[in-house]
Amino acid sequence: MSARILVVDDQASNVRLLEARLQAEYFDVCTATSGEQAITVARAEQPDLILLDVMMPVMDGYETCARLKDDPSTRHIPVVMVTALDQREDRIRGLEAGADDFLTKPIDDVTMFARVRSLLRLKAVLDELRFRESSSAMSGLSGDVHDDVDSTSRVVIVSTDPRSTARYAAAMPVQARVLEVHEPSAAIAAARDAADLLIVDLTANDYDGLRLCARVRSDAATRQLPILAIVRPDDVQDAVRALDLGVNDIVHRPVDAGELAARARTQLRRKRYADRLRSHLDEGMELAVTDTLTGLHNRRYISSRLRQAMDSASNGGAPVSLLLADIDHFKTINDTHGHEAGDQVLRDFSSRLLTGLRALDLAARFGGEEFVVVMPGAGMAEAEIAAERLRSSVAGSDFKLGDGTKVPVTVSIGVAQARRGEAIDSLLRRADEALYVAKNAGRNQVQAADNAAA
Ligand code: GH3
Ligand code: MG
Ligand code: MG
Repeated sequence: MSARILVVDDQASNVRLLEARLQAEYFDVCTATSGEQAITVARAEQPDLILLDVMMPVMDGYETCARLKDDPSTRHIPVVMVTALDQREDRIRGLEAGADDFLTKPIDDVTMFARVRSLLRLKAVLDELRFRESSSAMSGLSGDVHDDVDSTSRVVIVSTDPRSTARYAAAMPVQARVLEVHEPSAAIAAARDAADLLIVDLTANDYDGLRLCARVRSDAATRQLPILAIVRPDDVQDAVRALDLGVNDIVHRPVDAGELAARARTQLRRKRYADRLRSHLDEGMELAVTDTLTGLHNRRYISSRLRQAMDSASNGGAPVSLLLADIDHFKTINDTHGHEAGDQVLRDFSSRLLTGLRALDLAARFGGEEFVVVMPGAGMAEAEIAAERLRSSVAGSDFKLGDGTKVPVTVSIGVAQARRGEAIDSLLRRADEALYVAKNAGRNQVQAADNAAA
């Protein structure tokens, strides 16, 4: 996962050290050596994550963090505070300032990268939601609504030790409704039942807490549910595995009630915010960005997303590739079976298209029987594999009409990867030229565009 990270420390040597370690993992790094500079750089560069030193002269990390979280243009950027001492008061102060996570100096790489990846994943999801919201016809989520815990907030706590669950439950915000689960097999059902936060004790020997976390993440009903895991401080490996599985936050044993409370509140607020964005989307903006026949994104939406991904690629971010797919002899399908049948084929085509894509890929109906897939982070090789997967899934089995009639369908696909600094029209034209070659060479095939710089 490539991303831009802002490193803030008043000591230039610390900045250089972290910068080198992050760059070695292919992160794009920008730096600042004071709180004030950090705020300026964060506004201008819009990093994906900020590593913020706590101890700095003039404006310390807490104040810097609070200001970043106060500013609508930077509040969505996750902040990881870097502290010299692992002090409870520091952590709670940091959480109150809005910090998303902590690292203790000296920073160990494994922990740092696991935390960074976890927060970047979260940010990607929230960015997607925010983006959809901002492109919505009725974007009106005001920034001053507070997403706070209330009596509809539900917390599920899982541990086989009733004394532990009771202690954790006592630390939860008073408004929240808390369910203690001592039987791990009941945990999934409890999580599915409108939970807003799942707290899982990973220190128990009598059940596999990591497996539970993995199941919660892979279950569509609970995929968005925040998980807070409790681990032993010496078990770095468990913590890293948990974060890599998609656990949102970690608390060490023995659990400090104040810290657990603050972290739980952060997760509950974030969930509330994401839920609000989602329901808002459901209400109004779907129409503005969705193709009504197929449910895929529409041309307007995909064009702006493509532009965004291309800008990021040109600025040294991840590459972006594009598939342009056009159903072969679609007119004949209409002419033979009727327009209604044609519509049915377009819908089925869309679901086959979606089945083969990664979570990050964006599929749109570009017009008529022409479809576009934007693949952020994918180079040419990956995109060609995806294109071939689509081609074969379409040609592989007949489409079925409402009356049971079987219709063989094939598709031709052009693939192109964005060049650095390329305009969107130029990329689309190259993909279209490749598609044209595929059509002329007999259809039902994938053709790659020439990606050498023009
Ligand atoms: P080729 O293999 O060269 O792509 O041939 P083709 O027949 O697929 O291409 P052409 O562009 O000649 O025809 C596309 C047809 O798609 C013409 C148009 O009536 C039909 N079409 C466009 N939008 C819709 C739609 O929403 N529903 C249906 N049923 N047909 C549509
Ligand atoms: Mg066609
Ligand atoms: Mg066409």
